[in-house]
Amino acid sequence: MTDLSIIIPLFNEDESLPELHAWISRVLADRGLDYEIIFVDDGSTDASWSVISRLAEEDPAHVRGASFRRNYGKSPALNTGFRMARGRVVITMDADLQDSPDEIPELYRMITEDGYDLVSGYKQKRYDPLSKTIPTKLFNATARRVSGIHNLHDFNCGLKAYRSDVVKHIEVYGDMHRYIPYLAKQAGFKRIGEKVVHHQARKYGKTKFGLDRFVNGYLDLVTLWFTGTFGKKPMHLFGLLGSLMFLLGFVAVAAVGILKLYHMHAGHSYILVTDSPYFYISLVLMLLGSQLFLAGFVGELVVRNSPKRNEYDISRTVGDI
Ligand code: UDP
Ligand code: MG
Repeated sequence: MTDLSIIIPLFNEDESLPELHAWISRVLADRGLDYEIIFVDDGSTDASWSVISRLAEEDPAHVRGASFRRNYGKSPALNTGFRMARGRVVITMDADLQDSPDEIPELYRMITEDGYDLVSGYKQKRYDPLSKTIPTKLFNATARRVSGIHNLHDFNCGLKAYRSDVVKHIEVYGDMHRYIPYLAKQAGFKRIGEKVVHHQARKYGKTKFGLDRFVNGYLDLVTLWFTGTFGKKPMHLFGLLGSLMFLLGFVAVAAVGILKLYHMHAGHSYILVTDSPYFYISLVLMLLGSQLFLAGFVGELVVRNSPKRNEYDISRTVGDI
């Protein structure tokens, strides 16, 4: 089996690729490791693919590649690389030379010797504009809280190392590459570590992500939290919220009615139920409550019909099975 797979997702990075390949080869040259470099071309429109083909010709023992017909995004590119990887250890890095290949040997060692499932890079000193570094701090603080992985400072670092098991058991889609440690944790991999890594300013080309990354990133975090907590039992969330709201509305409307009857019988002056603002608030609550309940039912139907509803990842067994 191959010792190490290095996965590089890329979109229009033709200028960086030869330098990156040379650098990785230099770092790994005398280590006696059987390694492969997997370039996943995410539908580049520049010369990236011809550069990759050339590199594969020059260095057939180490270079593999795949190219999407169109641009799907970094997560699909990573996921494809994960499926292709043959190494016992898998390292991902960006193609733009912002991540340094000099970190590879230490990351490799942390997985093989320190027993980590996943080691994430931490760009403690970043060479990015302020408009990116400040929201990034906020983003990471939120991700730490929601995911419960308190020792990570840089969830979205492109430079990460994994035990092969991890990448074969998680699925990265949409823009979920920002939360791979959370995905790994949800899949049951708990030994998640961090290593401070060097970061450099982009040398060629420009960033592929704008500020919308923070909006989308936040929404994805909510999705992950929801699917992780209630994905297999949506009624537990919607049913609870729905019941509470319905009950509150019901009690309130009953109180309005009972009060009216009481005042009527006692000969006091009273107002009609429909003149009380609480009546309308109660109606809204009961309607919303029923809607939430219905959402729970629909969710349960979706889960019940999902082919994955009873798919579990069994890591060990004993005896006859
Ligand atoms: N990337 C990709 N597909 C995309 C966008 C980006 O494969 O649709 C790659 C990109 O080529 C780079 C990595 O993902 O290798 C990180 O992108 P970038 O450097 O633009 O992000 P930043 O460093 O600004 O966070
Ligand atoms: Mg970059």
